[in-house]
Amino acid sequence: MFKVNDNFTRLPSSYLFSEVARKVKAFTESHPEVEVIRMGIGDVTRPLCPAVTDALHRAVEDEAHADTFHGYGPEQGYGFLISRIVECDYRRRGIEISEDEVFVSDGAKSDTGNIGDILSMTNRVAVTDPVYPVYVDTNVMGGRAGRLMPDGRWSEIEYLPCTSENGFVPALPTGNPDVIYLCYPNNPTGTTLTRQELEKWVKYCRDNGALLLFDAAYEAFIREDDVPHSIYEIEGAREVAIEFRSFSKTAGFTGIRLGYTVVPKSLTGCSRDGGKVSLNGLWRRRQTTKFNGASYLTQRGAEALYSEEGQRQVRETIDYYLENAGIMRRSLAEAGYECVGGVNSPYIWIKTPDGMSSWEFFDYLLERYHIVGTPGSGFGPSGEGYFRLTAFNTRENTVKAMSRLAGVKH
Ligand code: PLP
Repeated sequence: MFKVNDNFTRLPSSYLFSEVARKVKAFTESHPEVEVIRMGIGDVTRPLCPAVTDALHRAVEDEAHADTFHGYGPEQGYGFLISRIVECDYRRRGIEISEDEVFVSDGAKSDTGNIGDILSMTNRVAVTDPVYPVYVDTNVMGGRAGRLMPDGRWSEIEYLPCTSENGFVPALPTGNPDVIYLCYPNNPTGTTLTRQELEKWVKYCRDNGALLLFDAAYEAFIREDDVPHSIYEIEGAREVAIEFRSFSKTAGFTGIRLGYTVVPKSLTGCSRDGGKVSLNGLWRRRQTTKFNGASYLTQRGAEALYSEEGQRQVRETIDYYLENAGIMRRSLAEAGYECVGGVNSPYIWIKTPDGMSSWEFFDYLLERYHIVGTPGSGFGPSGEGYFRLTAFNTRENTVKAMSRLAGVKH
């Protein structure tokens, strides 16, 4: 009998969102008159901007005629998009990235999940805690996580707690990890790291031969000056860091799918015999073998984001979510809750009051205010006692939900 990849069978079932759905369903069935407002969603709600939809329509027309039809494209993405990425996302910020260092894909989930393909199974991994679960689960699949312990941690992964005690700033690792995942602006806490903080991480990786996997999926939400938009704003990062970007939250591409990953040519790892190996070359090999490129249509849509019109429209949409976040932060503070995030991020991370567990607070918000969020414990052991709300709802629902809470002192 053939064998399965046992690593998959070791993953506990991911019950977070199904449990949320089950509880909401039970509540709405027993209270059909109540309007429940969902603020747990990690998906955007605003439609694609006109610059993108116009470009998509034109691209569909291209595909309808033999002389403009595009079949298989370059696996790493079309030059027309990559040149805009290099110019607008990097050169304008003073960062030199060359076109063959950019790999366009169907999103940051795939890339952050697949990057382990080019890394040894023997690498030791560190993650911040709470964390975007993809980093941990894909390392379990890749055989790097060890055993699941009773406290919900994996024995071979180093967890770097981010809690109110350390101001949500992770301490440098002590377990000598080879690979470190950082996500800033952070999902789920909505917090950021300053330039000075990021400099420490780059220095740590350079001094210790570690690889930094930097997930910048929420870069477009950054509004404060001291928050770097790219890890490559930090000197020396080109030798230690891979950066993941996504058009999902930037421009509402969660449904049509597009992202990209930057793998600098100056970034090398070590082979079994101690030789230096270019990660750019390995990732190119991985992508050209296992990925057939993102669709022509989507890449034309993304290209249009970099027009003046596109930039303005995207900014308007993100400002809309950030204004929602501002309303939420003010209302939560007024109601006496301690929370972070929502300034350079669509996520607000609330400390549950009165020592409630994350799930107790979920029930409390649902039953008392008819608001649905996400229990922080679903993002890792240090998420216990916290709760995530998102700013992706409509203005109307955001205001309605917050007015239910405001004025209710805790
Ligand atoms: N990285 C983080 C931190 C995320 O929160 C998400 C989506 O929620 C992703 C990556 C996935 O992005 P994409 O839609 O590009 O796959």
